[in-house]
Amino acid sequence: MQAKKQHTYCMVCGKEKTGISVKEDYVIDIIRWFKKTVLRSESHNLLVVCKEDYPVYKKYRKRFVSRQRIYIVLGVLFVIFGMIISPFITTLLYMLALLLFLYLLSLINYVPALDLMKYKEGKKTVGKKKDAL
Ligand SMILES: [Zn+2]
Repeated sequence: MQAKKQHTYCMVCGKEKTGISVKEDYVIDIIRWFKKTVLRSESHNLLVVCKEDYPVYKKYRKRFVSRQRIYIVLGVLFVIFGMIISPFITTLLYMLALLLFLYLLSLINYVPALDLMKYKEGKKTVGKKKDAL
């Protein structure tokens, strides 16, 4: 049986490859929970970014981070302006809900961070080619 074996897939090209593993965070946890309980598929697959796709990944990640920042700034501005225009607790609740909504919206194109610390520790075993980062 190979059920216990962990396959690593590159999140950029989708191929089964080895590379830098994705950092486990709450978004990954939520996605995993969703797959397990809603889609009923528990996979042991691990997401990585292969060496070839690292420059592409960096571009994706940068775009995601800057876009998320815009969403959050926008949400905070909504809260502030909302409170100036109509300083009531209901307005605040609406604006906070909007802020949360914008935040969730920003996660649609989620690009997780990479576990570079782990990568550095296990570097000897990872690649034979020299780094071109
Ligand atoms: Zn790849």
